[in-house]
Amino acid sequence: MIDKPALFRALPSVDSILADPALRQLCAEAGRPVVLAAVRSLQEKYRQAIQQEDRATMELIQAGDVHAAIVAAVLQSVAVRRSSSLQPVFNLSGTVIHTNLGRARLPREAVAAMELVALEANNLEYDLDRGARGDRDSHLEAILCELTGAEAATVVNNNAAAVLLVLGTFAKGKEVLISRGELVEIGGSFRIPDVMESAGCKLREVGTTNRTHLKDFSAAINSDTGLLMQVHTSNYEIRGFTNAVPAAELAALGREHGIPFVSDLGSGTLVDLRSFGLPYETTVQDELQAGAQLVTFSGDKLLGGPQAGLIVGDAELIAAVKRNPLKRALRIDKVTMAALLQVLALYRDPARLKERLPTLADLSRGADDIEACCQRMLPALVSRLSAAATLEVVACKSQIGSGALPTDLLDSFAIAIRPIAEQGRRDASLQALSLAFRRLPKPVVGRVHDGALYLDLRCLRDEAGFVAQLDELAP
Ligand SMILES: *Cc1c(COP(=O)(O)O)cnc(C)c1O
Repeated sequence: MIDKPALFRALPSVDSILADPALRQLCAEAGRPVVLAAVRSLQEKYRQAIQQEDRATMELIQAGDVHAAIVAAVLQSVAVRRSSSLQPVFNLSGTVIHTNLGRARLPREAVAAMELVALEANNLEYDLDRGARGDRDSHLEAILCELTGAEAATVVNNNAAAVLLVLGTFAKGKEVLISRGELVEIGGSFRIPDVMESAGCKLREVGTTNRTHLKDFSAAINSDTGLLMQVHTSNYEIRGFTNAVPAAELAALGREHGIPFVSDLGSGTLVDLRSFGLPYETTVQDELQAGAQLVTFSGDKLLGGPQAGLIVGDAELIAAVKRNPLKRALRIDKVTMAALLQVLALYRDPARLKERLPTLADLSRGADDIEACCQRMLPALVSRLSAAATLEVVACKSQIGSGALPTDLLDSFAIAIRPIAEQGRRDASLQALSLAFRRLPKPVVGRVHDGALYLDLRCLRDEAGFVAQLDELAP
């Protein structure tokens, strides 16, 4: 029989932890609020671990080592925060794959693999059988081909680099045909027309109306044509009387003329998202089957991995991409590779993907579950803020983010916090409130909308850590 009350009693109090000489020193250097928040968060973590009867935690407490463990963890977390401006935040913005907030959160397996490969020498470019130089791409190529059915694959720093490399390899000084409706701009810095220009390609828009037809492409082909390209219209949708030429028809046209057809999927996915209750998004496999000779997509959007640009397709074309001297400048590093290998491996078992891949877990989280989370968090917020604001749990919509499925919104719930202020001061109060949340030891980023601060709890996993620091909210 586990004596939980005894274990809870054995947890050292906040005051006794803060009395530790190392932490007293830390309070003097870093400020007491930061240290206090870290202590509370860890204490809450241990309480939950006892509740869940976590064996390692119970042994640690029984051995009398928990005080030292908490002190060490506090020292480490505060040190990380102080030594770097890059720090963890709570993403309660309602956008799951948020480019400003670091996009995909990685699964534990990926982080463990990153640590291992970073700490030790490894066979990144070394063939252990032959005892000679190996190919960096070989590690990822096998699994990418297995998962997508492509003949060959290579990986670079991000998808913008993948697109640049493909354009530069096949269409430098030549024309690239692309449908007028697909001249995408993503987040200001990635505009297809500019990428084309920097790759030395001539953009040739095809179709002059809201509808682009196969005959428009065929009429545009000439001796200067280097590529046929399709770009996923990531962050917008053209509705109404429109027409885009299906990938299969463009691929056939390209084959007829000996011109490669490439598709930039942007936020490519490897599974049918409908099986997770999400809207359909073109998969990499579907695009290859439709006849795309090369497909490019991001590692840290729907795929849920680290920042990377993946290129899969025909062996001959991939070989040409790899021969491009730019490839060397755009290659990924060993730490990213370690993470990506782990993330891809999770796709071998789609049935367990939802519980193992944080991005998918967040995207497919049910509205009921999020509402329950809001109800659990509401009292702690009300007790700190009710004098200055009204708070309520409201239905809202989350976004997938990073341009994927721009018009499809996910049912979610948020805590809406509306400052109580006189007419002319409402805006200032609201700004002050959101700033106070952003200034917490682990900043909370919500969304200001319609006179209130919305905290969409879809992505809140560390409830204890969230509650633990609320006392620091400066009103
Ligand atoms: C996001 C996106 C890119 C850029 O990908 P990064 O991995 O962010 O470099 C390129 N093309 C499309 C269609 C995209 O959606």
